[in-house]
Amino acid sequence: MTAFTPLYKWYNKHKRDLPWRHTNDPYLIWLSEVILQQTRVEQGLPYYLEFSQTFTTISQLAKAPEKKVMKMWQGLGYYSRATNMRHTAKLILSHYQGKFPSDYNSLIQLKGIGPYTAAAVSSFAANEAHAVVDGNVYRVLSRLFEIEEPINSQQGKKLFSEIATDILDKTNPALHNQAMMELGAMICKPQKPDCLECPLNLHCRACKSGRQSQFPVKMQKKKSISRFLNFIVVDTGKLTLLQKRSGKGIWQNLYEPPCIETKEIISNRLPQESIESLDVFRNINNLLFKRIFECKHQLTHQNIHAVFWVVHCKTSDIKDKNHYIKASWQNINQFAVHRLFDKFLKYYTLHHAS
Ligand code: SF4
Repeated sequence: MTAFTPLYKWYNKHKRDLPWRHTNDPYLIWLSEVILQQTRVEQGLPYYLEFSQTFTTISQLAKAPEKKVMKMWQGLGYYSRATNMRHTAKLILSHYQGKFPSDYNSLIQLKGIGPYTAAAVSSFAANEAHAVVDGNVYRVLSRLFEIEEPINSQQGKKLFSEIATDILDKTNPALHNQAMMELGAMICKPQKPDCLECPLNLHCRACKSGRQSQFPVKMQKKKSISRFLNFIVVDTGKLTLLQKRSGKGIWQNLYEPPCIETKEIISNRLPQESIESLDVFRNINNLLFKRIFECKHQLTHQNIHAVFWVVHCKTSDIKDKNHYIKASWQNINQFAVHRLFDKFLKYYTLHHAS
C-alpha cells in the first residue's frame, strides 16, 4: 500500500465513463488526446464520437479530404490541431503501413507528437511507465507538494515532469496517470477544490496550510493585442467570394470572405484605399459597402473585433484572377469556416439573404 492507493480506489469507484477509456487502440487514444487538448471533455466528446465513428482506422483519416476533416472540426477551435492530426495520420499511413505505434520511443519520433501525447498514448495503450502531466496533473502536483516554480516556465516543466516520474506507480502507470488526471478534473478543480472528498488530502501540503488557491504558480502571460478585421462579403445573389486562410496564423485552412485588417475599428465608411487594397474591387467606384454585422472574439493573446461589410454586385463586376473561390450561397455550408464567419452566416441567412 502506498500514499496513492486511496487515489486508485477512488478512481475505480468514481471515474467518468468515457469512450476512450474502453479501448487500448493507440489510434483512438491519440485521437481523444488531440481533441481534448485545451478543450473540456463535454465539448470534445461529440467530436471524438463523430471522428472515431467516421474514421474507424487511421488510414481512413489519412485518406479523408482536408475539407471534410476541417468541416468536422469546425467549432472546436485551435484549428492547427486538425491540420497536424491529418499530417500525422498521413505519416503513419506512409511510414508505418497505417499501424499506429503504441510505444513511447516510436511515438516521440513522429512529427506532431510531443512528450505529453507520447506519454499518454504509450501509458494508456501499452501500460508503459511514462508519467503524463496535463493541466490537471500540474494543478494536483503543485498543491500536493506546494511547488512554487511556475508551471509555464521551462524550469517548472522540467521539475514537474521529474516529480511526476518519481511518484509514478511503475506497476500500473495507466491507472496512476488516469487517476491523477481525473482527480484534477473532478476534485482538485482550479476554483474551490473539494479537499474534504479528496483521497490524497492526508498528504496534501496546500490543504494543510490552506493555500490551495495559491497553486499552481504561473508566470505573467503575454499581453493580448487587439486586431480589427473587416470582412467583405460579396453577394451577387447566387455567389459569394471566399479565401482559404494559409500560413501559421489564426484559423489556418479555414474559409472566410476577403479580409482587410485596419488599425482601428471602422464605424462608418470603409476607406476607398482599403477597398482598393483588394484586387478584386480595384477600379470599381460605385459599389456600396454596407456595414451589416459586428462581433468580437477572444483568442489566446488576441482580441478580435470583426465587422462584416456586404457589397451587392453583378458577377461581371468581380475582377478576380482566380485568387478567390466563387462559392454558391446554396453550398456555403460545405466549407469549414471560423466562428466569426459562422455567426455572420447565421445572421445573414436569417435577415438579409437574397
Ligand atoms: S487535498 Fe485539496 S488541494 Fe490537495 S490535492 Fe486534494 S483537492 Fe487538491
